[in-house]
Amino acid sequence: MSDKISNAPSCADPFDPDSISLSAALARIEERVVPVHACERLPIRECLDRVNNEAVKSPHDVPPLPNSAMDGFALAIDSLAQGTVTELDEIGTAFAGTPFTGSCEAGQCVRIMTGALIPEGTDAVIMQEQVEVTDAGKIRVDADHQVGENIRQAGEDIAKGETVIDAGARLNPADLGVLASLGIAQLQVKRKPVVAFFSTGDELVSIGEPLEPGKIHDSNRYSLHGMLSSLAVDIIDLGVVKDEPKAMREVLEKASLQADLIISTGGVSVGEADFIKPALADLGTTEFWKIAIKPGRPLTFGQIEASIFMGLPGNPVAVMVTFSQFVVPAIHALAGAIPRRPALFRARALDPMRKKPGRYEFQRGIAILDDNGEWQVSKTGKQGSGILTSMSRANCFIVLPDDNTGVEAGDEVKIQFFDWSL
Ligand code: AMP
Ligand code: MG
Repeated sequence: MSDKISNAPSCADPFDPDSISLSAALARIEERVVPVHACERLPIRECLDRVNNEAVKSPHDVPPLPNSAMDGFALAIDSLAQGTVTELDEIGTAFAGTPFTGSCEAGQCVRIMTGALIPEGTDAVIMQEQVEVTDAGKIRVDADHQVGENIRQAGEDIAKGETVIDAGARLNPADLGVLASLGIAQLQVKRKPVVAFFSTGDELVSIGEPLEPGKIHDSNRYSLHGMLSSLAVDIIDLGVVKDEPKAMREVLEKASLQADLIISTGGVSVGEADFIKPALADLGTTEFWKIAIKPGRPLTFGQIEASIFMGLPGNPVAVMVTFSQFVVPAIHALAGAIPRRPALFRARALDPMRKKPGRYEFQRGIAILDDNGEWQVSKTGKQGSGILTSMSRANCFIVLPDDNTGVEAGDEVKIQFFDWSL
């Protein structure tokens, strides 16, 4: 037996020279994940949040032809007298969807509705609020108008041939509208990645099972399910797995047959890594990483057959932090999406925060906008990595970078609003 005290990685350790930085871990993940290959052709309504496979180019101009941006009167600017008011005859009406078919000559104008095609012979639309209608029905217009006024030009939104949606873009609701405006009914998107997950721990019982002394309810699978539900993935919940190599091996084998990504929680901290290690060593290639973040320091990353494996810590807050920082980017990489980084906002800290340099910390905060339009952020009480209510009460992470050595009340900090789909 060794006379030394074990030095195994733990969430509680301070700065460790062996640990890798958050950005290095992220870079390794994105480097190693191979995007899914298969695609499917779907009606555009079903493409929300899916990853576009090939750049979409516009088959025509949008709008296809010049049309009116206002309700008013279409006329030729040339037909207006300089420096005075001109009286014009109204010769008809152009409706959205029902164009005016005649031609407009000098001294004439056409009543026009928003979205109606610009009649032949006209080059401006005068807002109806800016004209005067005489008792005799003449339209009086002053000289203060320009060619092109209130006209939406053809191709002003999208020119024919222009790329409107890049390959690798995740489709948002506006993209669906843009596709519809181009008359595109279906789109080829990458298939959804399949994500399987399970919890590990002899102490865990599922909801509905009795809570014997020493047992706790498994909460991680529920937080994971919630976070995964914000993403375009197919989910397989593999339940709770006992802390034994055989059970672990079986679940990993099963998962690797079905999933592109396998996520486990627990069993990667002090003393416990050993029960995962042999199972993983047999089945695939895996690395145990110490990442310079808190909470969430130990993380396992590897490959089992064609599946990516990510072993998250067991502590419920660490699960959510590592999910947001590493699993979400891994899922987007798997899905073939262009990577996005979360937006950080400046905020004034209302509470002091203790912090050791050398690692990133993700404290849980409640940010509110003050009367001057500045974000103010307070901590959600106790910040232990087991205190899940610190997450449920929060709306953001307070992100304290490596070099931060602590925060005084009033200091500026960065916050990252929760968005599990980023
Ligand atoms: P571990 O990494 O397995 O040592 O777990 C660290 C801590 O997180 C322990 O206190 C576990 O009881 C707790 N924990 C692990 N998994 C879960 C889970 N699925 N739900 C709630 N707590 C968990
Ligand atoms: Mg455990």
